[in-house]
Amino acid sequence: MNDILTQLVSLQAIDLEIDQIDNAIKSEQSGLDERMSALAKREAFINELQEIISALQKESKTLEGEMADKMDHVRERQSKMMQVQTGREQTALLKEIEDAKKSAKENEEKIMTIMESIEKHSAQMEEEKNLLKGEKKLVTEETNKVRANIEAINKGKKKKDQIRIDQAGKIKKSLLRKYDTLRQHRNGLAVINVVDGVCQGCFMALPPQRYNMLLKGDEIYDCPTCQRLNYYLPPAKEEN
Ligand SMILES: [Zn+2]
Repeated sequence: MNDILTQLVSLQAIDLEIDQIDNAIKSEQSGLDERMSALAKREAFINELQEIISALQKESKTLEGEMADKMDHVRERQSKMMQVQTGREQTALLKEIEDAKKSAKENEEKIMTIMESIEKHSAQMEEEKNLLKGEKKLVTEETNKVRANIEAINKGKKKKDQIRIDQAGKIKKSLLRKYDTLRQHRNGLAVINVVDGVCQGCFMALPPQRYNMLLKGDEIYDCPTCQRLNYYLPPAKEEN
């Protein structure tokens, strides 16, 4: 194989290893990110519950105030009963008192329902808070672990990065740029072998004349379909 291609193939092998390292870092990080966002979701839910509870408490207070006013009205009307003379006035007052009592009773029932709802929401909030506490503890441990993992991975990456720099230094700048661009757009594979006339990057057959030129191995050719740089490796000779 052409020397320049050999260098590119070596460079690509290093780059693929570095890609794997980068992916390992990403997956460590994204696992942690998922846990963090789960925590944030639970926190938001707890806040939501707190808001519901506060609104219910406010409503209950308003109803209590109204109820007190209604009972005051009942007492006031009851004392007026002493002063009325006619049966008609008495009947009207009695009706007014009954209505006010009934209305106060309705308030009381509403307050009871609200209290039950507050209790239910408070219990749920307590449960969520407990879960959050446990999850926070786990995430803290996980964060430390992930940081240590990433640090260890990065150490290995530094060595590889230096090897990459050395290997890239052996390749002409213009070709290196082409290689880098190809890798970006062709799923990390800029240099690819050809087997039985078929490019192993896009699995399209090379035109026969192009394949014959490639077999000679002294020029660099792009695949006409995927533009990757093609190389040909003769099959290892079988020993008899
Ligand atoms: Zn191709």
